[in-house]
Amino acid sequence: MREIKSILVANRGEIALRIMKSAREMGIKVIAIYSEADRKSPHVRYADEAYCVGPPPSSQSYLLGEKIIELCKKNAIDAIHPGYGFLSENSDFAKKVEEAGITFIGPSAQSMEIMGSKLGAKNAVKKFQVPLVPGTESAIEDVQEAKKIAESIGFPVLVKASAGGGGKGMRIIHRLEEFEEQVQLAMNEAQSAFGDKSVFIEKYVSSPKHIEIQVLGDQYGNVVYLFERECSIQRRHQKVIEEAPSIAINEETRQKMGQAAVNVCKACNYYNAGTVEFIVDEKGNFYFLEMNTRLQVEHPVTEMITGIDLVKEQIKIAMGLPLSFKQEDLSIRGHAIEIRVYAEDPTNNFLPDIGKLIVYHRPLGPGIRVDDGYEEGMQVPIYYDPMLCKLIVHAPTRNEAIAKMIQAIEQFEIVGVKNTLDFCKFVLKHPHFIQGNFDTHFVQKHFQPEFLQLHLTDLEKNLVAYFTQELFENSTTQTCKETTTTIPNKSLWKMMRLK
Ligand code: ADP
Repeated sequence: MREIKSILVANRGEIALRIMKSAREMGIKVIAIYSEADRKSPHVRYADEAYCVGPPPSSQSYLLGEKIIELCKKNAIDAIHPGYGFLSENSDFAKKVEEAGITFIGPSAQSMEIMGSKLGAKNAVKKFQVPLVPGTESAIEDVQEAKKIAESIGFPVLVKASAGGGGKGMRIIHRLEEFEEQVQLAMNEAQSAFGDKSVFIEKYVSSPKHIEIQVLGDQYGNVVYLFERECSIQRRHQKVIEEAPSIAINEETRQKMGQAAVNVCKACNYYNAGTVEFIVDEKGNFYFLEMNTRLQVEHPVTEMITGIDLVKEQIKIAMGLPLSFKQEDLSIRGHAIEIRVYAEDPTNNFLPDIGKLIVYHRPLGPGIRVDDGYEEGMQVPIYYDPMLCKLIVHAPTRNEAIAKMIQAIEQFEIVGVKNTLDFCKFVLKHPHFIQGNFDTHFVQKHFQPEFLQLHLTDLEKNLVAYFTQELFENSTTQTCKETTTTIPNKSLWKMMRLK
C-alpha cells in the first residue's frame, strides 16, 4: 500500500480540473502546474497549491518532465497524474517519476513502452488471440518485399508510422504504381514528426467503425473491461463525437471485444486505466489498432453508463489497492453521448480559432455534464489543443440521449470564437447518425460547410454586426455581462455563435 496524500496534476485545462475534483473528493491535496498563458485558469485557482513552470509553449512548460519531478521532490508531493497528452504516454518520464520515489498514476513504464509503438504492440498481442489487421509484421526495410505483401493483401492499403499518433504519418496507397513513392513520403513524414522513420503496411478497411474498450487493471493481475465507446465520428482522423454503448455492437461481439481487450492487457502486464482501440469492418469483424496507456478524452461516457469514477479508480490502483469489483459486477445503464466543443471553424476545414470567450453560458439540467477549463471572459490561447470543453449527456435510451444533447447544444451560448456546437447538432440530427448507419467517413460523406451557413435577412445581418462589434469593443467580463442583458432577442445570440 502506498500512501497518496497529495497529487500534482501535470496537465492543464479541463482534464486537470476534472482529475483534481475526484482527488479532492478522496481527501487528497491537489497541486497544479501552469504556464504563463494559464496563470488565471480555473485549474490553477481550484488547486490547493499552484506552480508556474514556464512560458506558454508546452515544450517550455508542460513538457518539462525533470522540472516537474524536481518540484514534487522539493514540495514533498506523493504522486503525479499526467492526464492525457503532454507527458502522459512518455515511458521515460514515468520511469523517472518512480525512480524519484513519486507514484506515477498510470501503468508501468514497461507497459507504456511496449504499447508506445504500434508495431511493438501488434507483436506483443499476437500470441494472445487478438485479431490484427492483415499487414507487414515489422518496419519496412525492403520496399520490394513490402510491395509483394501489399499485393497479396490487395489495394488500397494503408501505410502507417509505428510511432504514429494523432493520425499523422498515415497514407492510403491506392495502386501498386504509387507504392514506393508513398512509402518514402510516409517515412519522411514519420521521421520529421516522431524522429522514427519506421512505417508498416495494413489492409485498408474501407468502411470502418472505430470502437474502443475501456479497461481497468490492478497491480495483482485482475483486469476488467468497462464496455465500448463508439468513436467513428471523426474529422481529420480525430474524434469529435463519442457514445457508449455502440449501436453497432451486439452482446456477443461486446463480450468478444472485451475479452480481446483484457488479453491485450495480459500481453503487456497492464495495470491502471487504459483503452484498447479496434477497427470494425462492415461484417462486424474487429481488429486491434493500438492501446492508449492513459485516461482518454472521452472517458466520461464510460463513467456515465457504468457509474464508475475512472480517476478515483486510477488513484486507488496507484495506491496498490485491488479492484473492488469483478467483471460480473459491471453493467451498462442507459446511453451516454459526448461532443467535443472545439474552437474550430467547421465551415473552413475545422481550422482552429482563437480569441476571447465573450459569452460562455453552459447548459444545465439532469443528465448533463460539462467538463471544461474555461470561463466567460477568458482568452483561448494559440499554444494548446483547441478544445474548449466536453459536453456529455446521459439518458435511458440512445434516442433520448440524442434529444437531450440537441437541447443542451441549443442552450449552450458561446460567442467570441468559432466552434463545433452547430456542427455537432448537424451530426446528431442526421438520419444516418440516428439510424446508426455511419463509419469513420461520415463527415466527408455527409457534411458540407454550407449546411451551417445561415440565411439572414439584411436587417438581421446588420443587427448581428452591430451587437458583435459592440461586444468586441467592450473587453472586460463585467461589461460583457452587462451588454448581454441589454440584448432583447435571444435568437440573435444563436446567430452570432457562427461569427
Ligand atoms: P493514430 O494513433 O495516429 O490516431 P490509429 O491507428 O489509432 O492512429 O488510427 C486513427 C484512425 O485512422 C482510426 O480511427 C481510423 O479512422 C483510421 N484507420 C486506422 N487504421 C485503419 C485501417 N487499417 N483501415 C482504415 N482506417 C484506418
